[in-house]
Amino acid sequence: MSEPSTSPVPSPAPVQSNFIRDIMIADRESNKYGGVVRTRFPPEPNGYLHLGHAKSICLNFGLAAEFGGTTNLRFDDTNPEKEEQEYVDSIIDNVRWLGFQWDKMLFASDYFEPIYQWAVQLIRAGQAYVCDLNAEEVRQYRGTLVDGGKHSPYRDRSVEENLDLLARMRAGEFPDGSRTVRAKIDMGSPNLNLRDPVMYRILHATHHRTGDDWCIYPMYDYAHGQSDSIEGITHSICTLEFEDHRPLYDWFVDQLGIHHPQQIEFDRLNLTYTLLSKRKLLQLVNDGHVRGWDDPRMPTLSGIRRRGYTPEAMRSFCGAIGVGKTNGTIELGLLEHHVREDLNKRVNRVMAVLRPLKVVIENYPDDLVEELPAVNNPEDESAGSRTVPFSKVLYIEQDDFREVPPKQFYRLSPGKEVRLRWGFFITCTGVVKNDAGEVVELRATYDPATRGGNSPDGRKVKATIHWVSAAHALEAEVRLYETLFSKENPNQVEEGGNFLDNINPNSLEVLSGCKLEPALATAKPGDRVQFERLGYFCCDLDSTEGALVFNRTVALKDSWAKIEKREKGK
Ligand code: ATP
Ligand code: MG
Repeated sequence: MSEPSTSPVPSPAPVQSNFIRDIMIADRESNKYGGVVRTRFPPEPNGYLHLGHAKSICLNFGLAAEFGGTTNLRFDDTNPEKEEQEYVDSIIDNVRWLGFQWDKMLFASDYFEPIYQWAVQLIRAGQAYVCDLNAEEVRQYRGTLVDGGKHSPYRDRSVEENLDLLARMRAGEFPDGSRTVRAKIDMGSPNLNLRDPVMYRILHATHHRTGDDWCIYPMYDYAHGQSDSIEGITHSICTLEFEDHRPLYDWFVDQLGIHHPQQIEFDRLNLTYTLLSKRKLLQLVNDGHVRGWDDPRMPTLSGIRRRGYTPEAMRSFCGAIGVGKTNGTIELGLLEHHVREDLNKRVNRVMAVLRPLKVVIENYPDDLVEELPAVNNPEDESAGSRTVPFSKVLYIEQDDFREVPPKQFYRLSPGKEVRLRWGFFITCTGVVKNDAGEVVELRATYDPATRGGNSPDGRKVKATIHWVSAAHALEAEVRLYETLFSKENPNQVEEGGNFLDNINPNSLEVLSGCKLEPALATAKPGDRVQFERLGYFCCDLDSTEGALVFNRTVALKDSWAKIEKREKGK
């Protein structure tokens, strides 16, 4: 078939020792945090969750559950310009879909007042100051990895002046960017994060929750640890890029003398042919490269869900990849492997013909319809069986016929006999061509003695193909997907280019006029099935009764595609 080939499937990763779990076990043994495990998942509501977030969710919720602890869902909403309620709603929906239940749902913006009061406390203690340098000057004064930084000329303001300026910043007296509040730490530190980091900036922006209550907003590094602390988080799990922010995380909670959660960093998930960055995914949506955040090609949880991935498959994938301390890239094939494994167990098989070729069974009675028994799922007896109607005119897949069969092509060709799944043996007796010389219809005969798929005389056929009775077929649109990017690493670009250059122009193929067996008449959006020999499919949100639409979730492993590829390569 001309379907996209599937990626090679690596064997599932062995269960790795999990260093975060080890830390939790040690902390329980030493009675740190009174033996309690409390984690949080802290998304910024500036986009939809992606597969990388699923790893973080599984880790945070999974570990807490394992130790009898709890997990909060906390929105890290300190950047009002980029955040929206739509994103909050989608995140809530996606975490639930993945199968996790939070203890409390909270917002960093709920803590704006205590976080502000802590800034007052730090100023009083001489550990923070209001700085009048602009962003560019702050950068210049900070210095580089080789040079130390310079003290801001405003560093030694009196406590009274700082308190007055802070109050006036909050009251809205100053324009955006004109002043900041900075922690007074160490301008000579080899860790740039400790060179008097900015705690507050002025931003006259309407926040999706606090409206216009605030015109100063705390920076991530200043808000995050204190939010964790307020919630009594014990283990604050984040990705590796925050490793050298940890000294700052620790500095704030130590200076404030409040509950001190332990920050632990793990490796980000990267996947081949995939980008996991909300900013870039937003660009794909805004520039119309995809149909939206939930486009089935998107690596968002909304996208893969619409495509037909299951939460069970996502969780088993996240378990298999484990966590570590070095960033790497996981094969997309491994994710697809987990999806197939799960769908194989749970979904019913049906027959669907995507690119139909009509076959007329010449020796079959004109008005006869036989209902042939078919097993729904050979992996699950409880799925039961159904019948499939058989009649004189059928559709088979165009690719299952070759007028001049190449070597190793065992399916239908003139004079050859094949088995129709759940049906009969048929032999191709002739072809009908159009003016252009293309085969548009086949003639065949069937052997009534082979009903159910076996020949009483022990005659063997080498291929079994799927089919649909023309008179009973449902029409459908089927959407086939390839990877959204054609490069294994979509960030790898020519000089002056960007990731958009690596978009795969063939990532979506829409087939109309596909023929489905009548069992699918009642299919509803979200229903998953296997189309025999073609892959796993999921009924799309666009589907309506009478105008069915299916997405291909993932192809089956296709041995013929491999042979064909090898032959072509010769
Ligand atoms: P992005 O760069 O896509 O915006 P982010 O890290 O800024 O990601 P947040 O909403 O701040 O996104 O992340 C919420 C949590 O998910 C954080 O703890 C973050 O470390 C984690 N996370 C984000 N991306 C990944 C990833 N690729 N792999 C594992 N965890 C991730
Ligand atoms: Mg972020």
